[in-house]
Amino acid sequence: MIEMIDVWKTYPNGVMALNGIDVHIEKGDFVYVVGPSGAGKSTFIKCMFRQEKPTKGDIIINGKSLTKVKERKIPYVRRQIGVVFQDFKLLPKLSVYENVAFALEVIEQSPKVIRREVMETLELVGLKNKARFLPDELSGGEQQRVSIARSIVNKPPVLIADEPTGNLDPDTAWGIMEVFEEITNRGTTVVMATHNKEIVNTIKKRVIAIEGGRIVRDEKRGVYGYEE
Ligand code: ADP
Ligand code: ADP
Repeated sequence: MIEMIDVWKTYPNGVMALNGIDVHIEKGDFVYVVGPSGAGKSTFIKCMFRQEKPTKGDIIINGKSLTKVKERKIPYVRRQIGVVFQDFKLLPKLSVYENVAFALEVIEQSPKVIRREVMETLELVGLKNKARFLPDELSGGEQQRVSIARSIVNKPPVLIADEPTGNLDPDTAWGIMEVFEEITNRGTTVVMATHNKEIVNTIKKRVIAIEGGRIVRDEKRGVYGYEE
């Protein structure tokens, strides 16, 4: 499903953020990406959805190369990949419903399909009764649920999340993990960079640890492995 082959990333200022990453993630896998600050986790994640282009190496998502794809085809490849950020990135003037529907409007789905898919997805994340709310009328956890709904409403095979619980209190973070588990149960591959030791050590999944731009650990049912 996701393959990274000898991926290197050097930023224009000379910082070597990834130094030869090889990884293979199967369909339906749930993977935590852990490591100290500055280890290269965000760069790893950004390369996966082509926010950053590797300096060298290849990334293949669902059979398609992210590095060989032509610039104008990038939006099509990106549709294979839902992305969730720490800071939600919702459109503040649009309702919950509109924020989620937006992802389907840009790919020109019919109003009937949009209505059905948006409401189904809002139900999955537990926000069906808040469809008309604006983002700032919601709690942080609810806003993150909206952002998850937006990222999966077009049913991408891969969901990538960069510290999705980073801005949330512990109880709220656990609720978000329940949503991710639900999404994995539907066969979606989930890759999540996180600093949440409690979650990684409790909901046991594959753990990939990155340090100095290299994978230093890759365990099937791993632990967080850092003090905090
Ligand atoms: P992490 O997510 O593990 O904290 P990052 O991938 O953000 O690590 O950063 C890895 C290294 O690359 C760090 O040294 C960081 O300062 C550097 N870096 C990240 N983004 C950029 C950028 N856009 N330009 C230059 N250096 C960057
Ligand atoms: P949390 O415990 O997750 O931090 P909050 O205390 O922020 O949640 O919010 C609790 C409930 O009140 C949520 O369901 C949220 O939608 C609602 N709420 C919070 N702020 C507003 C607001 N300004 N207008 C309308 N509803 C709100």
